[in-house]
Amino acid sequence: MSGGTIGESMTDVTMTLGGIRLTSLDAGECLYDGGAMFGAVPKVIWESLVPVDDQNRIRLSISPLLIETGDRTTLVDVGFGSRHTKKDLRIFAFVPERNVETALQRMDLTPGDIDTVVLTHLHADHAAGATEDSDEGLVPAFPNARYIVNEREWKDALDPDPRSFAAYRRDDFVPVEEAGQLDLVGDRHDLGDGVSVVRTGGHTAGHLMVVVEDGGRTAIYPADLIPSRHHVRVPYVAGVDTFPLEVIEQKQKVLADAAENGWLVILDHDVDGNVGRIVRDERGRFAFEDLDADLDAG
Ligand SMILES: [Zn+2]
Repeated sequence: MSGGTIGESMTDVTMTLGGIRLTSLDAGECLYDGGAMFGAVPKVIWESLVPVDDQNRIRLSISPLLIETGDRTTLVDVGFGSRHTKKDLRIFAFVPERNVETALQRMDLTPGDIDTVVLTHLHADHAAGATEDSDEGLVPAFPNARYIVNEREWKDALDPDPRSFAAYRRDDFVPVEEAGQLDLVGDRHDLGDGVSVVRTGGHTAGHLMVVVEDGGRTAIYPADLIPSRHHVRVPYVAGVDTFPLEVIEQKQKVLADAAENGWLVILDHDVDGNVGRIVRDERGRFAFEDLDADLDAG
């Protein structure tokens, strides 16, 4: 199997929702332990779904969401950035030049154009791109942005449990607070212009999902609550989820709403495509149905 092949570029996928422009950005990909991704699902099952390399790794996309609402440009998650350690490169096989900044360049945007950065949670694959090296040390990579983080997530990231320790790196987020660019939010927070965040918990206690609404249409970015199309199956819960039963409960609710109301669903880690809708298969189970690129979701 060619599960270890990395480097072949994905594409950014842009769509409109009412008057809002949404883009699933290609900010690179990584290789990640398949067992950690599929949890209690036996390998004999999941290896028939995704290619796996000789070190048991599968490919994950790193796909932040860009939201352009006329006056305001919001970036949801910022990927792994480019401050990779040698160990990161060995474990995850990043291609350093594929990151959120080069993705924004393709959109004719610079980091200075971003008004709001939402971090769904502070794990390095979502938040490491939030800061960058400068002559004054680490500084926020988006100099004009307010950074939105859930208050519980912030607390847990500063004082992680031993199991979450490696996933949280203070250099990714503490400089944001030091620069005075951090806004902590509660369980529900309206960012204006049809964009809001909702705490789902599950993957981490303070994990956020982003909801975008315009013209009677809804799009969601469930982030690591539903990281890939395979995780649309309710019992498919990642081994790295902190509260697996909460993931199941929240996922069931979100998927039922998405299926019933025809929501656009934009995933964060699926190399085979991150944009689709939720349908029910012939056995009544939830399934992910791809939508083509450059579509008008409205
Ligand atoms: Zn992730």
